[in-house]
Amino acid sequence: MTAKIARFLDEVRPASPCVVVDLDVVRDNYHGLRHWLPLATVYYAVKANPAPEIVRMLAGLGSSFDVASRGEVDLCLENGVPADRISFGNTIKKVSDIAYAYAKGVRLYAFDSDGELEKLAEVAPGSKVFCRILMTCDGAEWPLSRKFGCEIEMARDLLVRARELGLDPYGVSFHVGSQQTDLGQWDIAVGKAAMLFTALNEAGINLRMVNLGGGFPARYRSDVPAVERYADAVMHAMTKHFGNDLPAMIIEPGRSLVGDAGILEAEVVLISKKSYDEEVRWVYLDIGKFGGLAETMDEAIKYRIQTERDGDRSAPVVLAGPTCDSADILYEKAGYEMPVTLKVGDKVRILSTGAYTTSYSAVNFNGFAPLKAYFI
Ligand SMILES: *Cc1c(COP(=O)(O)O)cnc(C)c1O
Repeated sequence: MTAKIARFLDEVRPASPCVVVDLDVVRDNYHGLRHWLPLATVYYAVKANPAPEIVRMLAGLGSSFDVASRGEVDLCLENGVPADRISFGNTIKKVSDIAYAYAKGVRLYAFDSDGELEKLAEVAPGSKVFCRILMTCDGAEWPLSRKFGCEIEMARDLLVRARELGLDPYGVSFHVGSQQTDLGQWDIAVGKAAMLFTALNEAGINLRMVNLGGGFPARYRSDVPAVERYADAVMHAMTKHFGNDLPAMIIEPGRSLVGDAGILEAEVVLISKKSYDEEVRWVYLDIGKFGGLAETMDEAIKYRIQTERDGDRSAPVVLAGPTCDSADILYEKAGYEMPVTLKVGDKVRILSTGAYTTSYSAVNFNGFAPLKAYFI
């Protein structure tokens, strides 16, 4: 909790629930990454928090942007991002959206399949393209599964094909999985990328860029290594596999730039038990999976939660949201406890909620308004 957010919550007393994002923290996180990874160009993954306030500020600091849709292209352009600082990083794009981005001047695109390459060749001729390779995402608290990327044998062929189609085969990308806690994953990924560089070299193609994706953490219930340890792991992997001949490096942080900058304030709506002899209390909040805490799916992301009564004796709880959907349970198995003195109407503060909350909040599910956000 930053002093600035604490003061805002005390003085403004915004209606519950809401998230308050301290832009100073986002700025510090950006500078931290730039400091520890000076050779990498930062492309902020807009989906983590697409607030114009954040895009505008990062644009002013010189950041580049990773976008996934026409809407995100427009968001960036409208907030002062030049087209040559935008990467269209989604491997699943409509032809019309590629054509739109191309017309606006975007010249950097991701792909992981022949079908996508053909679209790019048709409506984004001559663009720089990079192939996303498949990762297992071991060690990630929010893995990205097999949805994105292809095996490197296929990536090799696709990059050769990119040149045949008149595109510029620029490089390789991967994402080791979001909230990655195993620093060794970058070594595996960069090793694969370097193999592709060698294979393409043999085919007469000189790749020039490695896109190291996101995966850098926010601080949830468990401790995470410091950003400099991640930077060390990345640079160690790069020099180990590429030697002194380093290609251009891109990173696409989302969570690590904005996650810790946000505090979500919510309220206890109901405390109950399911039977006379059960110990566990059910604590229902006015925010749940559909109000912005979607990453509690399978109890994957475990937020730190504070109450005004912390320090009193605590006991096990199940935490749930307010909607009439039975999936709207936040934590049942993760072993959360709350003070026994907790009362209906108490405020709770959910920490590190600046990433993947407002952007996941439903528009009006069950009549609950979308998560309100303040940027200070
Ligand atoms: C979501 C996403 C990111 C951001 O990942 P974080 O783990 O939040 O940093 C980066 N790159 C791509 C292509 C993404 O889809």
